[in-house]
Amino acid sequence: MAYPGLFVDDVEVSTGEGTTSFEEDGDTTDGWSVLGAPAGSPGNANDWTFGPADLFPPSPGEIVDLALARQPEVTSFLSELFGPYPFRASGAIVDDYPELGFALETQTRPIYARDFFTDEFSGTSVVVHELAHQWVGDLLTVERWQHIWLNEGFATYTEWLWAEEEGVITAQEIYDGLVAIPADDPFWQVTIGDPGPEAMFDGAVYFRGAGTLHALRLQVGDEAFFTTLRTWIRSHAGGHVSVDDFIAHAERVSGQQLDELFEQWLFTAAKPAGLPEVEPVPPESPEGAAVLQLQEPRTPESLTGARR
Ligand SMILES: [Zn+2]
Repeated sequence: MAYPGLFVDDVEVSTGEGTTSFEEDGDTTDGWSVLGAPAGSPGNANDWTFGPADLFPPSPGEIVDLALARQPEVTSFLSELFGPYPFRASGAIVDDYPELGFALETQTRPIYARDFFTDEFSGTSVVVHELAHQWVGDLLTVERWQHIWLNEGFATYTEWLWAEEEGVITAQEIYDGLVAIPADDPFWQVTIGDPGPEAMFDGAVYFRGAGTLHALRLQVGDEAFFTTLRTWIRSHAGGHVSVDDFIAHAERVSGQQLDELFEQWLFTAAKPAGLPEVEPVPPESPEGAAVLQLQEPRTPESLTGARR
C-alpha cells in the first residue's frame, strides 16, 4: 500500500467495546509511510516516529526530567566539595526557545537551553555546572570580570569530578586529554587569569581553567586541594573575590609556594612548561568520549550554544 499515513490493525476501542480488525494477519501495525508536505506548504519541523515506546530514545522532555530529578543528588555532591548549599530555594528553568543557546547560573533558578539535554549524562553535567555556580559565581562573586576563571574554571572542574563519580571518565583522564593538545594550538594562547573582554567566555577559560585546578591538585595533594576548595568558599562567602586572593589562599592552605604554577597556567599565553608527554587513553564509553571532545579546541563560533 502506498497511501500516506499510519496503518494500524486490531485497534482496541477506547470505550471498551472490544477490538476491531481489518486483516487476519495478527500484525497490529502494518507499516507507515509519510509523503512530503504538499507542494507550497511548509514542512513540519517536528519529527515523529511510530513504534513501540521502548524502541526509541527518550524525548527531550523526558531527558530534562531525568536530569533535573538528580538535582538533590548533585546538590549533596557539591555540598561535599564546597560546604552547605548557600540558599533556601533551588530549582531550574529549561526553556525550549530554539536560539537560547546557553545556560546561566541565575541564583536559585538556573536557566538552561533545552539543547543541553541530548542525553541524561550531558543534561546532568550542565546541571552540575550551573548548581556549582551557586557557590562559585553567586555566593562568591568576582571582583571584576577579568577574574572569570574563578567561576568558569571551578564550575567546569566540578563536571570533571562528577564524570568521575558517575564512572564515565576520571578527572585525570580528562586532564591527560587536555595536556595532549599541541603547544602550537591557539587554545593555549588565551591568558585565562585575565582573558580580556573578547576571550572572557572562550573555551580555554573553562577547560584550561579546570586543568589549572587539577594541576594544583597534583601539586599539593588531594587533602590540601579539597581543603583549599572548602575553605575558599567558607572564608569568602557573600564576598567579592580575585584570582590573587585565591592564589594566596591556596598557598596558605598548602604551605607551598605556588607562584610558578599559577603563572604558567593562568598568566602565560602559551602551553604551561614542563607538562609530561602523555598518550591519552581513548575513553570506553560514548559519554566519556563526549566529555573529552568538549575539551577540544573550538572556534568562538562553534562555542555558541555551549556557553554555560
Ligand atoms: Zn559557567
